[in-house]
Amino acid sequence: MATPMSASKLVEALRAEGVTVHEVRSWRTHNRNHRGAWGPVHGVLIHHTVTGPGTDVVNLIYDGHSALPGPLSTGCITKDGVVHLTGNGRANHAGGGDGRVLDAVIGESYGDRPPATQKHDGSPGAVDGNARFYGWECENKGDGRDPWPRVQYVAMVKATAAICRVHGWGEKSGIGHLEWSDWKVDPRGIDMTDFRRDLAACLALPAGQWEGNDDDMALTDSDVRKVADAVVAKLIAGGGVLENSDLRRIWWADEIPAARPPYNNPDYFAADGKTIDNDTWTAKYAVQTTVEGVRETLARVRNLEGAVGAVDLSDADIATLASAVASNPALAEQIAEKVAVKLAERLAE
Ligand SMILES: [Zn+2]
Repeated sequence: MATPMSASKLVEALRAEGVTVHEVRSWRTHNRNHRGAWGPVHGVLIHHTVTGPGTDVVNLIYDGHSALPGPLSTGCITKDGVVHLTGNGRANHAGGGDGRVLDAVIGESYGDRPPATQKHDGSPGAVDGNARFYGWECENKGDGRDPWPRVQYVAMVKATAAICRVHGWGEKSGIGHLEWSDWKVDPRGIDMTDFRRDLAACLALPAGQWEGNDDDMALTDSDVRKVADAVVAKLIAGGGVLENSDLRRIWWADEIPAARPPYNNPDYFAADGKTIDNDTWTAKYAVQTTVEGVRETLARVRNLEGAVGAVDLSDADIATLASAVASNPALAEQIAEKVAVKLAERLAE
């Protein structure tokens, strides 16, 4: 059982994690405590705001709207990674959920994911989540395409770690809204198992030291290689080719923040022939890497075929070789070495 922390304690804990904090208006006394319980607290819920550019998302989370009065969470984490504190106490963010999930969170007794929730706000037997969870509303359209900037994601992990650290909780005390209510899908685009893995890494270090993994939210070279492998596997397994429509789909796939934009590669220049028109997407880059990889593989296979074809041994030759190897095991190694050298020469041509 944990007693909710004070506003000052929360600010202190967030700053200790290295988070940029913005205190919104009278957030320290802004809450829904007059409408229901606040505490004992057991965890942190992660949400997406379903807002895009042009929405004053921070004030929306502070004020709420006609159907749902604010605060709509403890804080709003914007795309620039700032944690805007909007509520100290009970807030309208979690709604009703599954008591089995709450038990699993309290005991931190689940594996990768809590038991699948079978309740939502208003279901018979649903548990009041607004009394039990702190909440972070995180700015995102929630369409499954809107990217999560790395600076925002790192702030989300750190802000959750700040609360867990104060209460002595582990990473299993951080769950997504979709894991609480079977009506919800947020936070879309974030796998809560990955989130908890990062939360655990953050909590394993002293406050303020974790800075995220480089490969958290962007395509790395190894991701590109995986994509290439998958495409090649498709080519081999299907015995077919990638249709233009496949390429088009990959080309214009979801926006993916680029770990390594393909600078200085004229293939990616815009129509003006100078500027790069793909500094945030690496889908094109993955396709190109794949095509180049396949081309190189084919060239090597042809070389190998040439190398193998050039060796013409009769059955008698093979028998002679076999008996020579049998009487002198070291010979096998010498032959293998010679063959390897010859092949390397071939491939270098
Ligand atoms: Zn939500």
